Amino acid sequence: MDLSVIVPCYNEAESLPSFVDAATSAFSPLGDSWELIFVNDGSSDGTEGFLRAFVGSGRAPHATLVNFSRNFGKEPALLAGLRQARGSAVAFIDADLQQPPATLVEMYRLLEGHDEYDVVAACQRERPDHSLRSRLSAGFYGLFNRVSDITLEPGASDFRVFRREVADALLSLPECHRFTKGLFAWVGFRTLPYPYAPDERVSGKSRWSMRGLTRYALEGMVSFTTVPLRISGYVGAVAAVVGFVYIIFVLVDALVLRNTPAGYPTLLSVMLLLGGLILLSLGIIGEYVARIYLEGKRRPAYIAASIVSSDATNEDGRP
Ligand code: UDP
Ligand code: MG
Repeated sequence: MDLSVIVPCYNEAESLPSFVDAATSAFSPLGDSWELIFVNDGSSDGTEGFLRAFVGSGRAPHATLVNFSRNFGKEPALLAGLRQARGSAVAFIDADLQQPPATLVEMYRLLEGHDEYDVVAACQRERPDHSLRSRLSAGFYGLFNRVSDITLEPGASDFRVFRREVADALLSLPECHRFTKGLFAWVGFRTLPYPYAPDERVSGKSRWSMRGLTRYALEGMVSFTTVPLRISGYVGAVAAVVGFVYIIFVLVDALVLRNTPAGYPTLLSVMLLLGGLILLSLGIIGEYVARIYLEGKRRPAYIAASIVSSDATNEDGRP
């Protein structure tokens, strides 16, 4: 098997027919040594029916469908796909045709031709977009790169083709709360950026809400840096020094200059400030403790209700 293409699908029944057309025609020059691995992430529309029919149709030389028991999210879907992939190169692609399968083939050819690289990563060309969303996203990347040990390229996505070694490295990471973009950076390997302009979604709208994106950003931060934990320590130290200086000032004012201290407003503002800082620090610590709690339960990242494959050898059930 040369190439395994992993496609996470959540309610993509409208995009999938054009996706499989584009994918089968783009990959057919590769002969019959490629496979499509669909992960149906608990879709509530016709996604499962369509994919079952596709896997049985023989339109791809090898096709596998993993059905999740509910919606677990894109990251667990990518992990499930990795566990099924048998290719010596593996790729992630979205089902909505924003990432054209033809581009994936170009990236695969590039990987084949460049022994010195292990990953070809599509990165979005700068779009003339000044929405709040893209500003927030740029801000996130800036902050992330400053406070974490790894560097994320702005515009990087999961749209990548990589060698088996990289897939095995990703599989060796045991955490079940995954931030794949960060994991790619963490495992290292030599990465060749491949600029491309994403297309519009063929149907429906993006599955990301502002809330989902915020949680995703928080996940990325907390998974890859402990700097926020240290910030509360620094702020506490600064507050202590300021408090100490202020106490001396008050003592001199009262004992030497004989002014009666007017304490009430100062007291209130200092209490509010410190109370706020303490709650903020507790919140930050809480994020990390929650992560420890969730990882400590050792729950799997997803539950596969069924696995359907066009190859008999792969129908062994659970991952
Ligand atoms: N997706 C998924 N589970 C989810 C949300 C999304 O498997 O809970 C899939 C979705 O079907 C698509 C890909 O992840 O193939 C990217 O989703 P989307 O296009 O909504 O994200 P965006 O392109 O806006 O980043
Ligand atoms: Mg999309």
